[in-house]
Amino acid sequence: MAVLRLANISKKYKLDNGKERIVLDNISLTFSNHGFVSIVGKSGSGKSTLINMISLLDEPSNGCVYFKKNNINKWNLKEKENYRNNDIGIIFQHYQLLENETVLFNVMLPALVKGKKKKDAEGKARSLLKSIGFNEKLYKSKCKDLSGGEKERVAILRALINDPRIILADEPTGALDTKNSTLIMNLLKKISKERLVIVVSHNESLVNKYSDRIITIKDGKVEDEQIVEDELIPFKREREKLNKQKHWIFTLSKSNFFRRIKRNLIAITSLFIGLASCLLIVGFSNGSTASIRNSTYRQIDYGVATISKEISQQIPVSKMSLVQMSRPSLEELSVSKNTLEKFYVEPNITTLISKYPIIKSGDSRLEELSYNSIYSFIDKSFNKDLLINGSLPSEEALSEVLINKKGYDYIKKEFHSEPLGLILSVYDEYEYQYYGSENQVVVDSFIYEKEIKIVGVVDDLNFLATPKLYYSYQPIKEYLQETILVNLSTKLDREVTWYDMLLSCDGSDELSSYSYQLFLKDFHDNKDLQNLIQEIPEPLKIDSPSLTISTALFDLIIAATLGMELFLIIALVGTTLILGIISFSSYTEDKKTSAILTCLGASKKEIFSIYFYENLFICLISMISSFILSPLLALLGNQIIQVVTSFQNMIFVPLLAFIIIIPTTLIICAASTYLPLFFSKKISPKEEIAEE
Ligand code: ADP
Ligand code: MG
Repeated sequence: MAVLRLANISKKYKLDNGKERIVLDNISLTFSNHGFVSIVGKSGSGKSTLINMISLLDEPSNGCVYFKKNNINKWNLKEKENYRNNDIGIIFQHYQLLENETVLFNVMLPALVKGKKKKDAEGKARSLLKSIGFNEKLYKSKCKDLSGGEKERVAILRALINDPRIILADEPTGALDTKNSTLIMNLLKKISKERLVIVVSHNESLVNKYSDRIITIKDGKVEDEQIVEDELIPFKREREKLNKQKHWIFTLSKSNFFRRIKRNLIAITSLFIGLASCLLIVGFSNGSTASIRNSTYRQIDYGVATISKEISQQIPVSKMSLVQMSRPSLEELSVSKNTLEKFYVEPNITTLISKYPIIKSGDSRLEELSYNSIYSFIDKSFNKDLLINGSLPSEEALSEVLINKKGYDYIKKEFHSEPLGLILSVYDEYEYQYYGSENQVVVDSFIYEKEIKIVGVVDDLNFLATPKLYYSYQPIKEYLQETILVNLSTKLDREVTWYDMLLSCDGSDELSSYSYQLFLKDFHDNKDLQNLIQEIPEPLKIDSPSLTISTALFDLIIAATLGMELFLIIALVGTTLILGIISFSSYTEDKKTSAILTCLGASKKEIFSIYFYENLFICLISMISSFILSPLLALLGNQIIQVVTSFQNMIFVPLLAFIIIIPTTLIICAASTYLPLFFSKKISPKEEIAEE
């Protein structure tokens, strides 16, 4: 019975000059289901082309190939893969082993591709190796360490492991010495007792010695001394139901991964950077808002504000308008009674005692230090937790003040001495001018001269704070209530204090500072401050410098976060590209391996998987290390940020970010594997195998 038939096969190549080259010209051959058949002919006569027709590495231009009663050229991809895996075994001229894998793995490979369990495949491979007396010590050696004869024998066993009907060998002894050639030919002869062995050979003496049949190719035609006209065997695929085992794919991925370890470490690092910055940036945008909100509430003067009346007047024939600020009357303030209930409303004293009076220690002036009032050190308006060093002013004494951290550092730097307990002198003056009875200008001078002692240091929004002293408004109020305007009192013949003047002066008078001072009664209400400000009806306006700063800071952080998030997208796309390029270059580098696997019946999908898993290793390692290291990096980042800006926990990576990283990593993995492979040139196994 016959197993193989070539029916009217022609192979033509279109040459670059437009002419046709006929390599095989209408060849018909039938092969019995066993025996040693040699194909001979001059170099370039078309021997390999003929073999390639049978192994489906090449398609005929005309005619078709029958395996049993089936036209194999009409098969679909899956059936062709099965045919390569089960029905034929190819022995290539240049061995075409997976050089970096072991002898055992190479022999097992077609069985593994078929779906055999590793244990079964290994058992079969071992018994085959044993049957030809292959040195057992070499079973676990890598093929690249073998001699030519050993490689050839491994290649033969690999072709045999799935018990194919046909063995195709293209110049199996081409690269071997006589001794090894004889060994190989003997082996093939033995095999040919049970199956069809087709051998292409140059070696005339060997051919004559071993062949059952010799086919000569000349000028595209065949000269066959033994025409076979047997019937073809009916085709029935006895396929064992096999669960596709992926073991061999993992093995190859793993060995590829370690073979390219340097390159893969670069890939891991780049993806790690991408993923870690992803986590840290998300952590920053999450943590910074909360951190800044918490920090701004920690400002001592957060609840200190002013309220004024702003009337804007359109300037005729101009787009500009004039804003006139004045202190609202108490009547006007009563409109927003509900809002103002949360505040102490007091006359603003900054015209009398400015924020920057002359502050001296001995003869040296501290120009950067400002002098700020808070309502009281002992009631609920003051957050006592903010004291970090020293003590609170013992009573509501004007002579005792607190200093913020920035001020503390400032004084320490200026004087090289401990600021706590330091005595400073404060001096300010103001001249109040008004018209007397005869229209002459009368001047009453306000002189403020005090010795103050720094008793405590308070935590402040250090990053943005300026050096500040804090004094209590209460004793100042008493002081103003006790100090009289000498000239005015004489004139009116009753005691007029500066406090009376502050209360009674006109809202547009400079003395009013054009506003009332507001002190939040309870510092716990500070979260409502912004709402309160928005609730105030026009033309009233609450102004809180500390709130303005923190609002600006918020905007800045939001802008920075947005910028970082854009950077993040670029980083992730960049990382995907880097991984893609690496995976592409691996694939190109391993074209030959892919070609060999194709010849052994592996599907395109399985070959792709090898690269996918290699990338998956990279991605998983990067992901896990980013999970472990990001919290540590966040910790470190927080430490640095806290030292520089005093903001705490600016980076706080939420659990959700970790969860989202998992699908992101998988998407990067898939995109960086499949996109470049999709765009890479199709591998032509015939060309890859032919090259050496
Ligand atoms: P050999 O008998 O030495 O194995 P081959 O079967 O490899 O010969 O090649 C037969 C002829 O076909 C050669 O002359 C070769 O140049 C030609 N050939 C093979 N592939 C192509 C191709 N893709 N385009 C043009 N000519 C080709
Ligand atoms: Mg050839």
